[in-house]
Amino acid sequence: MQNTIETERLIIDWRTVGPFAANSYLVVCKETREAVLVDACDEAPVLQQMIETHDATLKILLQTHAHLDHVAALADLKKWSSAPIYLHPDEKMLYDNVEQQCSLFGLPPFPSPPPVDHWMEDHEVISFGNLQIRTILTPGHSPGSITFHMDDFLFAGDVLFMGSVGRTDLPGGSMKVLLKSIQRLIQDVEKASVFPGHGPPTELAREAKTNPFLASLR
Ligand SMILES: [Zn+2]
Ligand SMILES: [Zn+2]
Repeated sequence: MQNTIETERLIIDWRTVGPFAANSYLVVCKETREAVLVDACDEAPVLQQMIETHDATLKILLQTHAHLDHVAALADLKKWSSAPIYLHPDEKMLYDNVEQQCSLFGLPPFPSPPPVDHWMEDHEVISFGNLQIRTILTPGHSPGSITFHMDDFLFAGDVLFMGSVGRTDLPGGSMKVLLKSIQRLIQDVEKASVFPGHGPPTELAREAKTNPFLASLR
């Protein structure tokens, strides 16, 4: 599936890849053509082609979290671009045990992702081209899930979906912590389009109002 959104300053393009139909998002600075990829999920050639289509230079591999369906293309994309990999330190356990994650889902193992180059903090500002993206720590689906905030856009990984929220039954998950994280998003970021790790984009205000999993926050 192919999708693009364009504003004055940036292009957001994405592909849905791999056996879990995960979304990999490319954000391109229109002026400099520098870009970041949010989650190198799978199918590296598809993602490389997306980047080439925009004549973009991949500057950073940003990871929302380290579940197997979000990291399978990291090794290939790192080799292809030499872009640094950014992850939150609370994801290290998952990142170092991709093989175990695969066996948990009965999937054949894939090569371990390369070492993380930069451990992100909460509220960190990351610059590329003429753009800046801010980190918001949103644990609950996984211990160090990061939501990326830029202009009126949120890249939420598996924290929040259209009409649903991330599963919390995997190691390090907690529904109580997840709901607190989403509450923080709703309070911190008043208005934004949400680009989730799976499924179609949605609006934060719409989810705050209608998402049945967030009923206790209303
Ligand atoms: Zn996940
Ligand atoms: Zn996922």
